[in-house]
Amino acid sequence: MKVRLAGIVNESVSDGPGLRIAVFFQGCAHHCPGCHNPQTWDFDGGEEYEVEDLLCRLIDTPLIRGVTLSGGDPFYQPEAALAVARAFHERGKDVWAYTGYVWEVLIQNQNSAVQELIRQCNVIVDGPFLQAQAVPGLRYCGSTNQRLIAVSESLENGKVQEWVSAFSAIS
Ligand code: SF4
Repeated sequence: MKVRLAGIVNESVSDGPGLRIAVFFQGCAHHCPGCHNPQTWDFDGGEEYEVEDLLCRLIDTPLIRGVTLSGGDPFYQPEAALAVARAFHERGKDVWAYTGYVWEVLIQNQNSAVQELIRQCNVIVDGPFLQAQAVPGLRYCGSTNQRLIAVSESLENGKVQEWVSAFSAIS
């Protein structure tokens, strides 16, 4: 299986809590005005990897808390993103994902890899970047419409539960 990536950051402190590996998937059709990463929009851009090779390149250490799937939008390549998410969960690490889809739309997606990817995530940061709601210094997101969603709690309760209120339960 192949995957197109915009880049990898092996030690990130800005893409979720703790020291994380951030994987930036190539391709995004949301085209949010003011997007900080427009170079990730082109689905033919970036660099192509075999997923097996990618997993070998992600340098996991005991200090790494988890992996963050970002982009672009990892939900456009759900099979590859799922492989990364599973690999990290098997090592006891947590998984965050960023998507331009809002949660209510994402969970209706009928693609089985999308559904499994959702379940493999601890936290999903949802929704497009909206310039009108942009606030500098927001925690782990760019505009106030974006939510840090605690996935398992939200699926169990049938409504969005934000990670801030779930912090003590999953950290
Ligand atoms: S979803 Fe993210 S990467 Fe895609 S256009 Fe919006 S801000 Fe940019």
